[in-house]
Amino acid sequence: MRVAVIGSGPSGIYAADALVSQEDVPVEVDIIDRLPVPFGLVRYGVAPDHLSIRSVRDTLNKVLQKPGVRFLGNVTVGSDVSLADLQACYDAVILTYGASSDRRLGIPGEDLDGSVAATDFVAWYCGHPDADRERFERLLPSATSAVVVGVGNVAVDVTRVLAKSVGELNHTDMPQHVLETLQSAHITDVYLLGRRGPAQASFTTKELKELGELLEADVLVKPADVELDPVSAALAESERGVGRNVDVIREWAERAPAGKPRRIHVRFLSRPVELRGDDRVDTVVVERTRLTPEGSVEGTGEMEEIPADLVVRSVGYRGTPMEELPFDERSGVIPNEDGRVTRDGEAVAGYYVAGWIKRGPTGIIGTNKKDAVATVASLLADAQSGALSEPTTPGGIDALMAERGVTVVSTAGWDSIDEAEKALGASRGRERTTIHDRDELLRSAIG
Ligand SMILES: Cc1cc2nc3c(=O)[nH]c(=O)nc-3n(C[C@H](O)[C@H](O)[C@H](O)COP(=O)(O)OP(=O)(O)OC[C@H]3O[C@@H](n4cnc5c(N)ncnc54)[C@H](O)[C@@H]3O)c2cc1C
Repeated sequence: MRVAVIGSGPSGIYAADALVSQEDVPVEVDIIDRLPVPFGLVRYGVAPDHLSIRSVRDTLNKVLQKPGVRFLGNVTVGSDVSLADLQACYDAVILTYGASSDRRLGIPGEDLDGSVAATDFVAWYCGHPDADRERFERLLPSATSAVVVGVGNVAVDVTRVLAKSVGELNHTDMPQHVLETLQSAHITDVYLLGRRGPAQASFTTKELKELGELLEADVLVKPADVELDPVSAALAESERGVGRNVDVIREWAERAPAGKPRRIHVRFLSRPVELRGDDRVDTVVVERTRLTPEGSVEGTGEMEEIPADLVVRSVGYRGTPMEELPFDERSGVIPNEDGRVTRDGEAVAGYYVAGWIKRGPTGIIGTNKKDAVATVASLLADAQSGALSEPTTPGGIDALMAERGVTVVSTAGWDSIDEAEKALGASRGRERTTIHDRDELLRSAIG
């Protein structure tokens, strides 16, 4: 059996591993990615200063090197190759292309210059080939006060990157131009805004704590923000993770600032209602909120203006549709049952999903493993029951790509890029430096 996996993030690689690790059905897997390099958000999302989490790449890389697995990078499904093409070349297709779009705040001024989506900012500092380098090189050196909207781990990553000194980031694989631009920024104040209380924020305690341990930034919390209503207090009592987060935030509220050159203002029960400015955002209008007994949030009408020349909106990632396959607009995922793509409740033969495009942008990297294994179990059951149709041109993808003039980056090509990034890093005393330019990645792939 030949299977195409669309997307080389963790879910795609875990799916490929599950396929080649079983012996009931002999399988060959091609992992196709629109980028010349593998690993999806492990490379272009996970914070570069979280070296141990990023080292998951080593485990994922071992799968790419397994017999029966090929990496086909620089191939975009939807433009270089269609799903119909893939159907002709493979017995089954597993869609693991993630959730790369951003959710909107839906407030006036959201599109002002200086207001950016966390997806774009993160892509830039991780060296994504499609990142808008010019935009951040223009915005950051002239920014002094930033507002980060959202209280999840991505918002915490963004806040930390903005508040860290370059000395604290120098050892990472961030591209040199990113480090230089961050160094040229003079941001003294970063506001992290959450519309609910500290008990409702979806931080992990370890990531949260780090904000209070930065060399050059004090963390400031208003005591009123840590006064819990009865529902939140009960939540902090019953859920250990919530209780630990609340303890960390309480400790910050009691801390005296050490007079460090930067400040992180963590604000709860605060929602942005308008971004103001002429050519560029200069003010965020924030409304104080309160929690209702039903657990939702309502405005109090009490307004505050926060000066900000950079606003990073971190209110969630969102999936996008793929060609003519069904798509749930409300939740931003491909409808499925046990990983089988469904249309009006009926399985669409030969198509499967795993990872963020299956269940939405939730969970940790490891969550995608269990998820991918479950999808592969459905696929193997279908293969054994004869529910899959034979490909008409098995193995035809190579000829098709050559015919269309697509430069495919193979596993060996990726290995060359890997070596080139390690060599670039070594030249600056680092373990690795990310190559951000697509042409340079392609040149490195050729060796
Ligand atoms: C900013 C950020 C920080 C994170 N930090 C952590 C963390 O510290 N710890 C943790 O456990 N988790 C973290 N996560 C979550 C983790 O990264 C995800 O759970 C995981 O990457 C989702 O895997 P995936 O394979 O479904 O999608 P992705 O990792 O997004 O992979 C999708 C792949 O599909 C490719 N693709 C997209 N469209 C096409 C197409 N048309 N054709 C071909 N290929 C395509 C993409 O290029 C990409 O390589 C973080 C996420 C983000 C956004």
